[in-house]
Amino acid sequence: MAPCFAQRTLATLALVLSMMLSGAARAQVPAQDVITFKLGLSNIHLIRGSRAVLVDAGSRGDLPRLEAELTRAGVAWKDVAAVIVTHGHSDHAGLAAEIRRKSGATVLLGAGDVAMARAGRHDDLQPMNFTAAVLKQFVIDPTFEAFEPDVTITATPIEPMRLDPWGIAGRVFQMPGHTPGSLVIELDDGRTFVGDMVLGGYLGGTLMPTRAGEHYFHADRQRNLENIRTLLRGSSRAFYLGHGGPVSRESVMATFGLPTAPDRK
Ligand SMILES: [Zn+2]
Repeated sequence: MAPCFAQRTLATLALVLSMMLSGAARAQVPAQDVITFKLGLSNIHLIRGSRAVLVDAGSRGDLPRLEAELTRAGVAWKDVAAVIVTHGHSDHAGLAAEIRRKSGATVLLGAGDVAMARAGRHDDLQPMNFTAAVLKQFVIDPTFEAFEPDVTITATPIEPMRLDPWGIAGRVFQMPGHTPGSLVIELDDGRTFVGDMVLGGYLGGTLMPTRAGEHYFHADRQRNLENIRTLLRGSSRAFYLGHGGPVSRESVMATFGLPTAPDRK
């Protein structure tokens, strides 16, 4: 028997109502684009919330490529509200001073890496393998333009700092391991930016970039491993990296081992 007019009207109303409700649910976590710029040695990520925020500041020679990528993304310098430098290595902090000059952006850095930023030179790298030793000796220039961060992050995973003042629905906190002041940025939807805590693929992300692996250098390898496990116990899903990536939660779990018990969230 064909549905009567009242039944059809009721069904239509129910459909419209459910669409409105699901729209309202989505609106709680605003859509935030993430675009990854693959530059000379490392990635810079652009997060577009209600404002534009950069995660990391590349290497000294990356400025022309960065400007071209921002233009392609429709972002002007004046739109960049903040640069979050995940750590004080020269291929992540390289253009922090220059980006601030051009955009007026707020520069955020972990407290443990402020000494490197002030010196314009990163700490002595601790190679994890032979490739890393070669990279250290022949490829990586430890120097970059010195800068003083505008905001020094001491927040912890338990008490993170919100990024809403810069238009981002997410939080930032320090996780010492790769460097003494390494930062993690977790968006409210679970996308997580971990700098060099994890390496994507091989040859700096050139081969198999979505396979999670161990990075070449860590100031404290054991603590870095504990950081990865802590994040896996939380809501982190896709991991955005300094080199290669993004990698899935599953790939990180496969490489570094499953978490044992929940310790936060
Ligand atoms: Zn690094």
